[in-house]
Amino acid sequence: MKIGVLGGGQLGRMMALAGYPMGLKFGLFDPTEDSCGGQVAPLFTAPFEITEALEKFVDEHDVFTYEFENVPLELAEYISQRKPLFPGKDALYYAQHRLTEKKLFQSLDIPVTAFSKVDDRASLLEAESTVGIPFILKTTTLGYDGKGQYRVTSQEELNLLADKLFPVQGEACKDTTYGGVSEYIAEAFVNFTRELSIVCVRDQQGECKFYSPAENDHRDGILHLSVAPAKGLSEERLMSLQGYAQKLLEKLDYVGVLSIEFFETTDGLIVNEYAPRVHNSGHWSMEGSITGQFENHIRAVAGLPLGDTNNRSVSAMYNLVGHDVDRAALSIPDVHVHWYGKDIKPKRKVGHVNLLAADYEALEAKIDKLEKLIK
Ligand code: AMP
Repeated sequence: MKIGVLGGGQLGRMMALAGYPMGLKFGLFDPTEDSCGGQVAPLFTAPFEITEALEKFVDEHDVFTYEFENVPLELAEYISQRKPLFPGKDALYYAQHRLTEKKLFQSLDIPVTAFSKVDDRASLLEAESTVGIPFILKTTTLGYDGKGQYRVTSQEELNLLADKLFPVQGEACKDTTYGGVSEYIAEAFVNFTRELSIVCVRDQQGECKFYSPAENDHRDGILHLSVAPAKGLSEERLMSLQGYAQKLLEKLDYVGVLSIEFFETTDGLIVNEYAPRVHNSGHWSMEGSITGQFENHIRAVAGLPLGDTNNRSVSAMYNLVGHDVDRAALSIPDVHVHWYGKDIKPKRKVGHVNLLAADYEALEAKIDKLEKLIK
């Protein structure tokens, strides 16, 4: 079976690497000629548009998946009319628009923070009464890793932001920082104690499996460290996270790996967003779980039985963002380096290191050792 992956970055690369031992073949599709997935699988280089190159890609593969949530919907539609596409179009549709996504969570009784639509000066100024201050203003589309966001912590900041984005009453957004996006969502600021994510997988028969929720730390809006299982997570919260994940998987008739990010507060859980794909906060599972997220995603897409998602031990994923790690790190027991074959640039995810340990104390000691070897 030949699997076609839309996107040839590190996620597509790790999907292919996980699928080869099962006898599967891969082709990756990406507009960027030196996409790092091209080092491990044939790369079809063309824009994400319906062209002859896409037609050829569709002809040459049996089943399709993707590594990013901004796959154009018409492209997903084109593929799914011809060959199976997992996860399907619905999963993309909701994930591509923050307002639509929030409403979906509400309809499933998954708790969200107060939010309102902002598309002109008046609706931005009104956000003060609908969601309160502080709040975060996010573009409804195309935001990731904290891009396309403004934090508002006072009435004064709100007025300044209104002048920047919508200087003229009744007119569309004048800001071009984020590609001229004119629609935003105002989200009440969540006073969270930590950020959690749950990665889960559903197969073509509807069986669902869950990975241990991870605790995630960000630096400059980019994931820095994930620890799984999240320390001290109560049984009740674990059940809630799995229940929410199951509802979403079923609602979307989902096939493959999905991840959902949550804020944990003293009062409970609040959902942030979901990603219809393998996720950075699930990379620890490559060695930390009996079956890693990439293998399980490919198993689901290929119609194979899912593998066990239980943990081998306590684990962490340390992201290499704009930095390399001295390979001497491999002398730390049960430490695994995953290098993506990219050039190092600031803020660029170039690899990650998975660390496994018998308990949290030993894990922290290994992380300390690793940090000394980051260069
Ligand atoms: P996002 O692009 O939605 O994942 O947001 C990036 C980061 O901004 C999150 O990981 C949080 O740390 C923070 N953030 C996003 N939304 C909120 C919110 N409503 N309240 C507090 N922090 C938030």
